[in-house]
Amino acid sequence: MSAPVIEAVTTTTASGPREGAFGNAVALACRECGHRTALGPFYACPECFGPLEIAYEFPAVTREEIEAGPRNIWRYKALLPVPADIETSPNTEPGFTRLLKAENLARELGIANLWVKDDSTNPTNSFKDRVVACALSAARELDAKVFACPSTGNLANAVAAAGARAGIKTVVFIPSNLEQPKQVNSAIYTENLVAVDGNYDDVNKLASEIAGEEEGWAFVNVNVRPYYAEGSKTLGYEIAEQLGWRLPDQVVIPVASGSQLTKVDKAFQELIKLGLVEDKPYKIFGAQATGCGPVATAYKAGTDAIRPVKPDTIAKSLAIGNPADGIYVLDITRRTGGAVEEVTDEEIRAGIVLLARTEGIFTETAGGTTTAVTKKLVETGQLDPELETVIINTGHGLKTLDAVSGQVGAAATIAPTYQAFKATGIA
Ligand SMILES: *Cc1c(COP(=O)(O)O)cnc(C)c1O
Ligand SMILES: [Zn+2]
Repeated sequence: MSAPVIEAVTTTTASGPREGAFGNAVALACRECGHRTALGPFYACPECFGPLEIAYEFPAVTREEIEAGPRNIWRYKALLPVPADIETSPNTEPGFTRLLKAENLARELGIANLWVKDDSTNPTNSFKDRVVACALSAARELDAKVFACPSTGNLANAVAAAGARAGIKTVVFIPSNLEQPKQVNSAIYTENLVAVDGNYDDVNKLASEIAGEEEGWAFVNVNVRPYYAEGSKTLGYEIAEQLGWRLPDQVVIPVASGSQLTKVDKAFQELIKLGLVEDKPYKIFGAQATGCGPVATAYKAGTDAIRPVKPDTIAKSLAIGNPADGIYVLDITRRTGGAVEEVTDEEIRAGIVLLARTEGIFTETAGGTTTAVTKKLVETGQLDPELETVIINTGHGLKTLDAVSGQVGAAATIAPTYQAFKATGIA
């Protein structure tokens, strides 16, 4: 399944994208058979229908060049499918989020050395701003008229906001049962929020159909998915750079389609190949909800066959029943000595509260999943508590308030008197 090295394909035709539109990217390469296709709005291999991914010919890149760049993902522009002048086009400028030493959570979980990569501080409060920024660049270079996506929520927020800033029409599709805050967080940026009666997999199928029918629509995670997916690499680059240009021993990453997890691994591999970090072993762990854990189920069964499920979990941002990159998640977690674990909705709620009470970080259900899975991995002996570990918080808790509004609240409701306060026993 590893893509062989093939020569660059000519990417510029009279009507095609401008020279340098995709930076150091040279082709789209099939992840299954290695077949190469010219850069364009394609996502499936013309030979075997396997997923296409971006192939590069990187020039020498130094730590100093990267460090001199802007404090957002464009500091890594040489490693992304974007033009050299990418900073000049309006976008949401996501990334370079904080990497926090999590000593209180570490003590609680019995882990010696723990960090939280906090992506809830991106412009629309999830890691999706990273992937959307890259997709927007591709959409522009491919001359798309409409910027669109099927989404479990956060992606729609990011697409709607980036499109507003770029002045391009946006249309975002979501399951109609999505959390109200996530609906408002899209509708505030776009007139074209479309709620579909169905689950994410139904919404995704509809989007693929529209992408096939309508001219000039860039669906970020469908027909420009190869460009979109590369944005997740910046999480891996940042973790390494913020640790002082070295790789952590273990990383715990939430899995929806599985794209993010596979790209953090790709990022680590690229940094090693470019000589920007020392080559060393690392383990990658995936986190899912029991109510939508097809990859965790396959991992535990020791099989490559991922059986699609009907999602039923409060972790709606992870509720993809038929994950496109699930097979690669299995491959990476097994190859690196990691695992894919799952937790119940109750554990997810407890994970949200735990991260908030120990580190002052309010995460959404996806981050509750990651935190709870990390706890379970330690308890079951799958994660080595002596090794340096990074967990990724991918989204903000204000978007999924309902998940914990029954868990926390006022300790007491009292009359405005000292006596009444004293009676609460808080003092
Ligand atoms: C989309 C999303 C993920 C996972 O993304 P994939 O790349 O599809 O696995 C994780 N966390 C949050 C908050 C998300 O919105
Ligand atoms: Zn192929």
